[in-house]
Amino acid sequence: MAYTFKCKDIGYDCSFEFKAQLKKDLLPRIRIHTKYAHNIFEMSPEMQKKVEDASKEEK
Ligand SMILES: [Zn+2]
Repeated sequence: MAYTFKCKDIGYDCSFEFKAQLKKDLLPRIRIHTKYAHNIFEMSPEMQKKVEDASKEEK
């Protein structure tokens, strides 16, 4: 079981994908990506919510 995040699921024309065993491991990695790739230095609560909704569990 793993969680997958695809950057295009939050609306970016971007091929970044990240997989983690734990959902809580996704967010720090996604923060780094959005910072360097999309110039988001501070993630808003709305953005965090989007990220969480876009992080899907794989079976
Ligand atoms: Zn991206």
